[in-house]
Amino acid sequence: MDRSLRVEDKIMKAFEKNIRKVEPYVPGEQPQSKVIKLNTNENPYPPSPKVAKALEEMDTDRFRLYPDPSCGPLVEALAEFYHVDPEQVFVGVGSDDVLSMCFLTFFNSDKPILFPDITYSFYKVWAELYRIPYECQKLDEDFRIVKEDYYKENGGVIFPNPNAPTAIYEDLDDVEDIIRANQDVIVIVDEAYVDFAGRSALELIGRYDNLIVVQTFSKARSMAGMRIGYAISNPMLIKYLNDAKYSFNSYTMNQAALVCGVEAVKDKAYFEESVRKIIETREWAKGRLEELGFCCLDSSANFIFARHPEYDAKELFEVLKENGIYVRYWGSERIEQYLRITVGTREVMETLFEFLNRYMGKGECL
Ligand code: PMP
Repeated sequence: MDRSLRVEDKIMKAFEKNIRKVEPYVPGEQPQSKVIKLNTNENPYPPSPKVAKALEEMDTDRFRLYPDPSCGPLVEALAEFYHVDPEQVFVGVGSDDVLSMCFLTFFNSDKPILFPDITYSFYKVWAELYRIPYECQKLDEDFRIVKEDYYKENGGVIFPNPNAPTAIYEDLDDVEDIIRANQDVIVIVDEAYVDFAGRSALELIGRYDNLIVVQTFSKARSMAGMRIGYAISNPMLIKYLNDAKYSFNSYTMNQAALVCGVEAVKDKAYFEESVRKIIETREWAKGRLEELGFCCLDSSANFIFARHPEYDAKELFEVLKENGIYVRYWGSERIEQYLRITVGTREVMETLFEFLNRYMGKGECL
């Protein structure tokens, strides 16, 4: 063998041990061709027309300058919307950025952080990335969080409510019990989908100084592509978050996102109407799925988690994809027979049901 190659091999081995190796999160596919896209829980409606107007009128000369590192107007708009002080609001590049910053800032114990075994798969990735010990708590057989599992010693707690990918919403009283039982650590409630559900844990912020609520513009406000997320908590925890952010990247939010974000928050009527339409379509779609023989979990989000007793989920996922209909499938333990289907417009859902009707034994297989 060539000697120089062997030397190179040796060098590789020397530095390899110092490389931070991670198994990354796998995001849902973003096909660039036109497909029926029900795989990443985006909102099927456009953002508020006020966002389009703001973009049209945007002063691009501002792009020469760095954006406001404190994201002032957006923080203020959110504070006004949620009736909190601006010191209680932190914004980031999607809630993924906010959650990642929370892991970095608040989960620094030797004790394991706790989160459900079936949940947003990014939690495990951040824990590994930041070398935070973690312990997954099993959801019960109905995919519900067992709150008592979170009453033991730990280094912090995080869970989504509604959970993903199950779409199940836990009652705020149960969420409060978990927060109350964990006042020596930080509890993060990831409310990416709460607008389609029930009461938010935001109403508990004043009562528990260990609570952080994280939400996003990606779902109910139709702005996944703009990447805006936020955390609301007490001023002390928000200051710690900002200190970590300014030690990482001062200019997280770009100028266009800052301007559009403000317009989206201000248009409350549009936001509420969009949420209403999605909930209505979700309930109707759930009924249609059940008519087709699917078993659906009780959804409080903008997606439905369903299985069919007679059809293998992986096969169904693949045949849907071959026919230009993208849904999400994981194939992981306990959920290998489930598909996660984002709620689209009624017309888009009709296309899905037309296909399923034909495919599912009505003798007209494609
Ligand atoms: N939390 C949960 C539970 C999610 O499903 C998602 C969407 N993938 C996020 C957070 C992140 O959303 P975003 O970064 O778009 O705000």
